[in-house]
Amino acid sequence: MDDYGSDDESVQDYTETKVLLGYAETEPSSDLISHLGGEPIWPHPSSPADARLAKCACCNKLMPLLLQLNGAIPESPHERMFYVFGCKEKTCRRKKGSMKALRGVKVSKDYELRIAKAKEEEEARRAEEKRKREEDATKPKAGNLLFGSGAGLGMGAEGNPFSAGGNPFSTTATAAATANPFSTKPAAPTTATPTAEKLTKSFADTLRISSTTKPEPEPLLYGPSEPWPSPLPFTYPLFYFDADYETLVPDAPIPQKIEEVLGDDKTSDSLPVSNNDADDGHLDTVFQKFADRAGQNPEQVLRYERGGCPLLYSHNDEVAKTLLDSKKEFTTGRIPSCTECGKRERVFEFQLMPHAISVLEGDSMGLDGMEWGTVIVATCTCAPKVRDVNGVGWVEEWVGVQWEGQN
Ligand SMILES: [Zn+2]
Ligand SMILES: [Zn+2]
Repeated sequence: MDDYGSDDESVQDYTETKVLLGYAETEPSSDLISHLGGEPIWPHPSSPADARLAKCACCNKLMPLLLQLNGAIPESPHERMFYVFGCKEKTCRRKKGSMKALRGVKVSKDYELRIAKAKEEEEARRAEEKRKREEDATKPKAGNLLFGSGAGLGMGAEGNPFSAGGNPFSTTATAAATANPFSTKPAAPTTATPTAEKLTKSFADTLRISSTTKPEPEPLLYGPSEPWPSPLPFTYPLFYFDADYETLVPDAPIPQKIEEVLGDDKTSDSLPVSNNDADDGHLDTVFQKFADRAGQNPEQVLRYERGGCPLLYSHNDEVAKTLLDSKKEFTTGRIPSCTECGKRERVFEFQLMPHAISVLEGDSMGLDGMEWGTVIVATCTCAPKVRDVNGVGWVEEWVGVQWEGQN
C-alpha cells in the first residue's frame, strides 16, 4: 500500500493501476484480520453471524470460509467486514447459492448516540409542534400557559410523553439525556427499564418510542440464530494477505481496461478469430485478457477496487449478463438492489482470483477441488437495521461466480 520504496528507477517500467492486489502469505503482515481460508473472526467476539447465513443453498451444509476481508473505508462510519463462503460438495458445484458473501457491520457507539440524539431532537420538535397545535385549538389564550403548564406536571401527560415539552425541564431532560449514561441503552431496547425518576422515565419513554417507530426490516431468517459448531467441520489452511497495487508492463500484449476488450472489435483483429463466429472470438479474447492480465502478477489471489471494474473471466454467462451492458461495458445497473436498504447502490468491491484455489487446496484436493474462474462481490455501505447489543448486524451481499470453463 504505502509506496515509499526507493525503487524510483523501476517506476518508469511499470504502470500502476488502482487495483489493490492481495497475495497469500503464511506469515501475517500488519493486517491480522483479513485472511484466506482459516476461520472467521467476528466483528465482535460474541457477535458471530447466524450460522445459517453461511450454509449452502443447495445442500444446506455449513460452508468453509474462503476469504475474510477487512472492508473499513473512509466513506463508511461503520466497521465493515466481508466473508466469502463456498461449498465444497461436488454436487453443489456451479450451482447458485453454493457461494455466499456476507458483510458484517459494527456500528460504533458514537454513531448510535448521534442517531439517538437526532431522534430525540426530532421527537421533541414534533411534540412541541403538536403541543402548540393543541394549545392553539383548545386554548385561544394559551399564551398565558406557555410557562404555566408546570403546575400541571404529571397531569394529562399520559398518552403523550412529550406533553412535558411545555415545561422547561423537558428540554433540559433531552439535553441531559444525551450526556447521560442511559443514552447507551438504544443498543439494547429491551433493557430500557422504566424507573420512577421523572427525567429518566421521560427519557426511557423517548427511547421506547423511537424504537417502536423504527421501521422493522423483514428478518433475513426467522427464529433464534444458529450457533457455529466447534470445531468447524472443515477449514482451509490459513493464509494472511500481503497487498500491493497492481503493476502492469505497458508493452504487454494485453489491453488494460475491460471496456477496451469489449467495446472495440478491432482489439480482436490480432487474434485468430473467425468473422462468422464473433461471439466465440470475443470469448477467447475475454478469457485471454483475463489470463494475461492476471498473468502479469500471477500470484494474486484477490483484486480489490471498490467502485472499480472487475476483471471478467467470461462474457458469456449469467454473471456477465448482470455486469455488462448492451455495449459489453461494465455496469452496476443490473446488480440486484441491496437486500437490506433496498437501494441500488451496490458497487464492485473485490474479486477472488483462481490462484486462491491452488493456495487454499495445495495438492490436497486434486480433481475434487473448486472449479471457479473468479468470484465477484458487489456491496453496499448501509448499516443493517437489526443489530445486536454489540452493534453488529449482517447483510448478505451480491456474489457472482464465474465458473471455470464456462466461457
Ligand atoms: Zn452445497
Ligand atoms: Zn444497503
